[in-house]
Amino acid sequence: MKIICIGRNYHDHIKELNNEIPDEPVVFMKPDSSIVLKKFPFVIPEFSENIEYETEVVVKINKIGKYINKKFAHKYYDQIGLGIDFTARDLQQKLKEKGLPWEKSKSFDGSTVMGNFISKTELRDVNNIDFSLNLNGVVVQNGNTSNMIHSIDEIIEHISQYFTLKIGDLIFTGTPSGVGKVSEGDVLKGYIGEQEFFSINVK
Ligand code: ZN
Repeated sequence: MKIICIGRNYHDHIKELNNEIPDEPVVFMKPDSSIVLKKFPFVIPEFSENIEYETEVVVKINKIGKYINKKFAHKYYDQIGLGIDFTARDLQQKLKEKGLPWEKSKSFDGSTVMGNFISKTELRDVNNIDFSLNLNGVVVQNGNTSNMIHSIDEIIEHISQYFTLKIGDLIFTGTPSGVGKVSEGDVLKGYIGEQEFFSINVK
């Protein structure tokens, strides 16, 4: 199983990090070893002073595919979830400055929180999903997939040109604005609409 992530997919988040708007999806990957085990906390790693949360809608692939046209992309997933792409922002900044790959800042152990999934049929429209992150009782991120620069189906078309998609693969579709630093003792809860998809403590 692989985790494919899309960066810079919401205008408001691109602005807050002073990045350029990409003309095609920014793609990176995380290994399955990055996933926090269910009911375990997120442990701040020693190599970073600035771990930031990025809340993202996640698509689970249910059919093997390569060179998938966006017209047919909807046939390749039937479940939608919500997760966090934790990022060591200080380390990522250093790597970016040197033009080096981001993996150490994005794909370390614990950098992926994967919440529950629901059938996409429970959602009215995958291109109009309201989601949010609540940090210690305060809503800090609020997004809607209608604001994605590249839609879920466009992402699948793009990434499947390079990578064969397999059953169980996860696609993190990018984060809206409001990313921020986590500290010991924080509690992060993710929602699609009113429904809680994950709750994780920071240690
Ligand atoms: Zn992300």
